[in-house]
Amino acid sequence: MEMEDHIRREFSKRFGSDGSLYASAGRINLIGEHTDYNGGFVFPGAIDKCIMAEIRPSGTDMVRVFSIDIDEYVEFGLNEADAPEQQWARYIFGVCREIIKRGGKVEGFDAVFAGNVPLGAGLSSSAALESVFAFALNDLFNDNTIDKFELARIGQSTEHNYCGVKCGIMDQFASVFGKKDHLMRLDCRSMEFEYFPFEPKGYKLVLVDSVVKHELVGSPYNRRRESCERVAARLGLQTLRDATMDDLDAVKSDITAEDYMRARFVIGEKQRVLDVCDALVKGDYETVGERMYETHRGLSKDYEVSCEELDFLNDVARECGVTGSRIMGGGFGGCTINLVKDELYDSFVETASKKFEERYGHAPKIYDVVISDGAHKC
Ligand code: ADP
Ligand code: MG
Repeated sequence: MEMEDHIRREFSKRFGSDGSLYASAGRINLIGEHTDYNGGFVFPGAIDKCIMAEIRPSGTDMVRVFSIDIDEYVEFGLNEADAPEQQWARYIFGVCREIIKRGGKVEGFDAVFAGNVPLGAGLSSSAALESVFAFALNDLFNDNTIDKFELARIGQSTEHNYCGVKCGIMDQFASVFGKKDHLMRLDCRSMEFEYFPFEPKGYKLVLVDSVVKHELVGSPYNRRRESCERVAARLGLQTLRDATMDDLDAVKSDITAEDYMRARFVIGEKQRVLDVCDALVKGDYETVGERMYETHRGLSKDYEVSCEELDFLNDVARECGVTGSRIMGGGFGGCTINLVKDELYDSFVETASKKFEERYGHAPKIYDVVISDGAHKC
């Protein structure tokens, strides 16, 4: 409410009347890591941290936007040559341009926005920003004729073409399609998806942000990808999506030990996502938690994308009796995502914060999240 009031006040002060209010969310991914480029599954959901924007068509050909959090005002036109300098404004400009490129309509508008998705913490504040504007401009100028998947692609293309980030589709997909109390299993090969209930009564979802990001020499992500591609090719497959552990074991002597480990993780991860979906249908959160720990172990030992800090946080979670814990995101830093029984929450957060700070000299950041709606009109 506070955020909404702030936005409304600021909008009427700057632009003299009322606009329409829209919001879109950041996201978590419960399980399914390094699976997108292997044609596998991801399992994200939108969270109760959002970006909210008040917007009103202005009848001009200019966009005028004020960012409350950055405390900066920017104006730009809608032609390609009008791209603003400010990074935050480029997300909005990019969304406008990507809609126009697809034959959609965007005219001048005034906007004020603010958010509470932590920036750069792996919760995808950028996707929230793109999707709130994509959703709003679809509603205001296009009679909602752009379908929701295209809205997600508009966000993704914005990152690619205006922000220099070659991301996949998951973040924007989750931000656009997110639904309260549901996670979405997205098949990264067919782009089909299905909602699964996620109402962990008696549990909390807690992110522990290590606030470290290790810069690595070489291209570790590309090397992981190449390993997967080599094994898939050896199996005569396009991707590891259709490979089984038996297939992998059958070629073990023909591939390197490293490629074997990488593929073992990816094949196992596909099954873990499916297991978690089955478990959720039964309301079995203990199995969900076990799979999360298995994913962490796989990312750490087989895929080798963890780091000391994340393994430390995972160990602390286990010692505290946390139900499930794993690295969230590509690895080498960032957050762990934890499924924690309500009664253990306080002791876990306190222990993890204290032990981590003693060891690494700074406290981790803690974010509680609840699975919530994605892009919508308020
Ligand atoms: P994340 O992992 O959170 O998506 P990114 O670096 O991809 O991190 O995106 C963060 C960028 O998105 C910020 O640098 C800023 O340009 C923009 N952004 C996110 N949230 C806000 C906000 N509340 N106000 C203004 N800009 C924002
Ligand atoms: Mg981002």
